Amino acid sequence: MWNELKKTNPKAIDYLEKCGKENETDGNEQWKPERWAQTYDGGYRWRIMTSNGSESLNSRYKAERRLPVVGLVEGTWYKTVKWFNERKQITLARQAEGERWPKEIQLKLMKHTRKAAAINVITVDIERGEFEAQLPFEKNDPGVTWKYQVFLKRDYQPRDPQLPSMCAWCKCRKPQLTGIPCLHVVAVCDHCRWDVSDFVDERYSTENMVKIWSTCDFHCYEDEDKWPRYDGL
Ligand SMILES: [Zn+2]
Repeated sequence: MWNELKKTNPKAIDYLEKCGKENETDGNEQWKPERWAQTYDGGYRWRIMTSNGSESLNSRYKAERRLPVVGLVEGTWYKTVKWFNERKQITLARQAEGERWPKEIQLKLMKHTRKAAAINVITVDIERGEFEAQLPFEKNDPGVTWKYQVFLKRDYQPRDPQLPSMCAWCKCRKPQLTGIPCLHVVAVCDHCRWDVSDFVDERYSTENMVKIWSTCDFHCYEDEDKWPRYDGL
């Protein structure tokens, strides 16, 4: 696409090469595509292309939005408390059941497992963990075989001890960007008889979800006459 753009709109290329630099006239300064292209952001936005997450709050606060500031703050407070408690209960129940992953992750992996049966997996190099997942056809291109290169290692030793010891890489980029195994990785796992849930990013674990929803320490707030004195505007 970059090459296409070069032919049709060289000015846009000039602009993008300077975009994000500290000093755009400095020819020696490296270009910084991670500042404007999601492809290069290292998965920071987790493949989310929209701001729907924050937009949805607008509709949630539709009624409170018409109230004075105090009412708006109070409404936000009660809703936040409600959401945190609901989610805390769900994740605690999940933890009590001994489930390693939240339901959403489990359902996604089950959906992939059903579809993965149609994929042909070729072991290219087991030691290097290189595989090829071949799809007989895709919806828009019947008769065309799609090939995905997959790297999957169970005994991967990351240099950074904070990183998971499992490594899943696919040409479709979904595991790298979302931390969840794609259809092709699931197919390779089925082929090798490995547990695909070992390749889910640890950040999604039930244990971490419990930590997230238990961090907030909410307490009822006192009546106005008990508030600390304030002398400002
Ligand atoms: Zn894939």
